[in-house]
Amino acid sequence: MQFTLLLMRILLKIILKKAAFFDRDGVLNLEIGDYIKQIDDFKLLPFIFENLKNLHNEGYLLFVITNQGGIAKQFYTHETLKKMHDFLQHECKKHGFEFTEIYYCPHHPITSNCICRKPGSLMVEKAIAKYNVDVTKSFFIGDKERDITCANDAGVKGYLIESNEDITTIINHEIKLNSLINNN
Ligand SMILES: [Mg+2]
Ligand SMILES: [Zn+2]
Repeated sequence: MQFTLLLMRILLKIILKKAAFFDRDGVLNLEIGDYIKQIDDFKLLPFIFENLKNLHNEGYLLFVITNQGGIAKQFYTHETLKKMHDFLQHECKKHGFEFTEIYYCPHHPITSNCICRKPGSLMVEKAIAKYNVDVTKSFFIGDKERDITCANDAGVKGYLIESNEDITTIINHEIKLNSLINNN
């Protein structure tokens, strides 16, 4: 019986993954106070790479969870957005890691209602289900209250930051926290 429990705990530890969720605009790239409509406006914040790399090295899966209502408003297309996200992945790969998946909601209540737009938690829940995410060891960083609501409704801890704020302290704190949990 004891052995079975131990085995289950080990199996769960292997199967369940830690994950770090990020809002996009104002967290990974510069918030410019308007929709990011073209690739030239998509400026990655310089401090993200070291932090994301550290998380990757600690075994975290990395996800982007972003509302892109500018698509519904026809400010830009899925293709333009893909170019931005390909660029993001390309820059990450230069540092030896990449995002596991980039989830975006292309809808906006002005044109149609949907169930994916934040503060809804569907995008996060999809990632959790698809990749066996351990919500107790995961976190979400966003610069809007709706990011935190989205995270919390999926059972994930949320950190609310100022737009374009350096996330280094939070990342280091989370990594330290999880190494403490793992050693117990
Ligand atoms: Mg944002
Ligand atoms: Zn949506």
